[in-house]
Amino acid sequence: MHINVRNSDEKINLDHLLIEQVELAIHSGIHTGGKADLAAYPSDFEELRALLEYAQRQNLPITVLGGGTNSLISDKGIEGLTIITSHLTRRHVQGQMFCVRSGLLLDRAIDLAIEDGLGGLELLGGLPGTVGGAIAGNSGAHGIHIADLLYYVDYMTLDGKLHRKQIHREDFSYRNTPFSNRNDIIIYEAGFRLFPITQTNEARKRKDEVKAKRKQNGQYDNPSIGCIFKNPQGLHAGQLIDECGLKGYTIGGAKVSQRHANFIINTHKRATSGDVKELIEYVRHQVFEKHQVMLEEEIHYVGRW
Ligand SMILES: Cc1cc2nc3c(=O)[nH]c(=O)nc-3n(C[C@H](O)[C@H](O)[C@H](O)COP(=O)(O)OP(=O)(O)OC[C@H]3O[C@@H](n4cnc5c(N)ncnc54)[C@H](O)[C@@H]3O)c2cc1C
Repeated sequence: MHINVRNSDEKINLDHLLIEQVELAIHSGIHTGGKADLAAYPSDFEELRALLEYAQRQNLPITVLGGGTNSLISDKGIEGLTIITSHLTRRHVQGQMFCVRSGLLLDRAIDLAIEDGLGGLELLGGLPGTVGGAIAGNSGAHGIHIADLLYYVDYMTLDGKLHRKQIHREDFSYRNTPFSNRNDIIIYEAGFRLFPITQTNEARKRKDEVKAKRKQNGQYDNPSIGCIFKNPQGLHAGQLIDECGLKGYTIGGAKVSQRHANFIINTHKRATSGDVKELIEYVRHQVFEKHQVMLEEEIHYVGRW
C-alpha cells in the first residue's frame, strides 16, 4: 500500500492545517451554505491522521466534503471539523491498477488514467465531483457505475487507522455503497482495475463526447447539485416532476430547472440552502399528490439541519 509517511520526528503543525470559520458556498456545487466551524485540507495520510486524532481528543464530529456536487450544506454551517479532500490528489499505476487519492476530480482522474495508457472509465467523463464522492454514492452515467471497475478502497477510521476493503460488486447498488452516509470513515485511496489501451486518442474522444453531451444539454449552465431525487423503481423522478408542471417553479432563488425537472438550480446566485430544501419538500409533496409516489433524495444533507 502506498502511503505518504513523513520522518517520524517531523511533527504535523495543526495550527497551519486548521482554519476557523471557512465559507462553504464555494465548496458546494449549488453555491449555498454557511460556514464550517473548523475546516482542513489534508494533503497526505499523515496530515489526515493527525487531524482525526485531534478531532477525537477534542470530541469534534467529522464531516467530509469532496467537490460538494451532491451535497446541500446547511445555511447554519457545519459543526465540528470539516475535512475537505481537494488536496488529496496523487495517483500511481501498478500494472493495470490505477490507484488514486480520493480528492482528485473524477474527470481529471479519467484523463490521467488515459495518459497512463489505461481505459474503462471514459463514460463517466464530465461527471462533476471527486473520486471519493463518486465512490460514496456509487455515481454512474451511461449504464456504468464507478463500482463496476473498483478493486479496492483504502479508508481511514476516526482512530487514524487505515483499512483496505476489497470490493465486491454486489455490495454496491443504485446510489448505495458500504461507504454511503457514514460519518465514521474517510475514503483515502481507491484502486481501479482498468484495461490497457493503445489508442489513447480513441479513449480521449469517447470521454470528450460524453462530456460535450452534458455541456450541450445545459448541465453546467447553472449552479446545481445534480439530480435531487433517486429514480423510484422503474420510474424517472424527472418525468414525475415534469408531469406535475413544476419546471421553472421557484422558491426564493431556487428553481426547478426548465431543462431537467430533477435538477434544482441557484438562479442569479441568490438562493439559500433553505430555499432549496423548501423547494425539495414542495416538489415531493406535489409528486405524491399527483402520482402517490414518495420521492427519496439522492443528495446528501450536510451540517446543522
Ligand atoms: C451538473 C451535475 C451533473 C451530475 N451528473 C451526475 C450523474 O450523471 N451521475 C451521478 O451519479 N451523479 C451526478 N451528479 C452528482 C455528483 O456529481 C456525484 O454524486 C459526485 O460523484 C459527487 O462527488 P463529490 O465529490 O462532489 O461529493 P460530495 O458532494 O462532496 O459528497 C457526497 C457524499 O459523499 C461523501 N464523501 C465525499 N468524499 C468522501 C470521502 N473521501 N470519504 C468519505 N465520504 C465522502 C460526503 O460526505 C457526502 O455524504 C451530478 C452533479 C452535477 C452538479
